[in-house]
Amino acid sequence: MSGPERAGYDVAVIGAGMAGMATALFAAAQGLSCIQIGNAGSILFATGLLDLLGVHPVAEARRWRSPYQALAALGRDQPEHPLARVDQTAIRQAFETFVAALGSAGMPYAPLGELNSEVLTSIGTVKSSYGVPVTMAAGAAALAARTPCLLIDFRGLREFSAAQVVAALADRWPGLRHARIEFPNSENTTELYDAHLAGALESAGTRARTINLVKPLLGAAQAVGFPAVLGLARAPQVHAAFEAALGVPVFEIPTIPTSVPGLRLLAALERAVAASGVERRYWARVRGLIYDAAGKIATLELDDLAGGDRVVARSVVLATGRFNGRGLTADRRGVRESILDLPVSQPDSRDAWHQRDFLAPAGHPINRAGLMVDDTWHPLDASGKAAWPGLFAVGSILAHQDWMRSKCGSGLAIATAWAVVEQVAHQLRGAGAGRR
Ligand SMILES: Cc1cc2nc3c(=O)[nH]c(=O)nc-3n(C[C@H](O)[C@H](O)[C@H](O)COP(=O)(O)OP(=O)(O)OC[C@H]3O[C@@H](n4cnc5c(N)ncnc54)[C@H](O)[C@@H]3O)c2cc1C
Repeated sequence: MSGPERAGYDVAVIGAGMAGMATALFAAAQGLSCIQIGNAGSILFATGLLDLLGVHPVAEARRWRSPYQALAALGRDQPEHPLARVDQTAIRQAFETFVAALGSAGMPYAPLGELNSEVLTSIGTVKSSYGVPVTMAAGAAALAARTPCLLIDFRGLREFSAAQVVAALADRWPGLRHARIEFPNSENTTELYDAHLAGALESAGTRARTINLVKPLLGAAQAVGFPAVLGLARAPQVHAAFEAALGVPVFEIPTIPTSVPGLRLLAALERAVAASGVERRYWARVRGLIYDAAGKIATLELDDLAGGDRVVARSVVLATGRFNGRGLTADRRGVRESILDLPVSQPDSRDAWHQRDFLAPAGHPINRAGLMVDDTWHPLDASGKAAWPGLFAVGSILAHQDWMRSKCGSGLAIATAWAVVEQVAHQLRGAGAGRR
C-alpha cells in the first residue's frame, strides 16, 4: 500500500451504478461527508426510464398501471422483498429527490404521478415505466391516445427501424406511419451511430436541415417520434427546438443499449453527484475493507490508476451490484460476496440455480441471490446478526428480488438508497455527524 490514508468520511459508498449514485446524492443531501468509489455500473446500458415496479407476481407476469398498488401487493405477498421493506411515502420522496437532482443536472423528467406510463421501445413493444425523461413523454401520451403519428428513422442507422415499430403496432395503432430520411452530411456514409447523430444535432445547422426534411412529411401527424438521438448534454434544448419548429409534440424512442439516454443519464448523475460535493473516485476499486477493533471505523483499501490508497469512513454502503457489477461472483462452490465474503442467500446447490425451462416465467432462483439484511439494512454475518454496525447494503446486491423480471431496477436502487441513508444519518447524527 503506497498511498496516503485519507481523512475520515461520514459515508463511503462502494459502487457507482444506480444504487451507488442514489446513495451518494441522498447522503450529500443529508449533509453527510461522502466519498464514492467505483465505475459506472449498468447505467450506460439503461434506457433513461426509471422503473419503480412494473410486474408482480413475476410468475404470472402481471403488469400494473399503478406502481404503488403493485408495491402494496408485493408487501402482502413477498414481505422479504427489499422494495416491500421501504414505506411508500419514503419511496415517493426518494423518487422526487432523485428526479429533481437529474433535472438540475440537465436531464429533466416528466412530473411523477400515480401511474406507470407505457412507452414505445425500438422493437415496437411497449415498456411500462414510472420516471419518463421529458424527451420521451409525448410518446407515452401519443401511444395512450393512439394519436396520428409519424415515426422517423435515418438511412444507415442500425439501432432503430421506424418501419419495424410501425409493423409491430399496425393493428393497434392505425394512425402510425413511418418515413426514412437522409441524415444531413451522411450521403456518403453507409453506417450511422446514434451517439454521433445526437452530437451532430446539437448544432443548429444540422438541426435545421433535419427539421426541413421532416416538415414536408408531417401530413396529418399530430406527433413525431425519433430514435433517441435528439442531443446529448443539451437534449432538452434540442428536443424543444424540434417541437417549436415542427409545431407538434416530438418524442424520442429509446434505442438498444448502449443508448444515448444511457450516456445522458450517466453524465447527468455524475454532474449531480459532483455538484452535491461528494468526492468521487470513479477509476478506483475497493480491494479490501478492514474494521477497527471496536468494529466502528472502516478502512477501505483502494486500487486505482495511481496505485493504492486508503479511505477511512464511519459508515460504508455496499452498492456493488450483483454479477454484472461484480458485487457477487460465482464459482463451482457457489456465490460469494466479493469484498468481505459476507454470507449470500442462494440456492442449496448449483443444480438448483436455474429451472429446467430457461424461459420459465417465474425466473431462476440464482436471480434472487444476494445479501440478507436486518431491519436496519445491515448485511448479516454467518450467525444471522449485523456483520458490522456501520456497514449497509443497497440495490441489486440485496437478496429476495429479481429486479429484471419485476421491472424494478431503478426503484430498488433509489428506494433502498433512501432507506439506508436515513438509517446512516440517524446512526451518525447520534454520534454528532451531518446536519439537517
Ligand atoms: C441492459 C440493462 C438495461 C436496463 N434498463 C433499465 C431501465 O430501463 N429502467 C430501469 O429502471 N433500470 C434499468 N436497468 C437497471 C439499472 O440500470 C441497474 O442496473 C440496476 O438498478 C442495478 O443497479 P446497482 O447499482 O445495484 O448495480 P450495478 O449497476 O451493477 O452497479 C454496481 C457498481 O458497483 C461497482 N463495484 C462492484 N464491486 C466494486 C468494488 N470492489 N470496488 C468498487 N466498485 C465496485 C461496479 O463498478 C458498479 O459501479 C437496466 C440494466 C441493464 C443491465
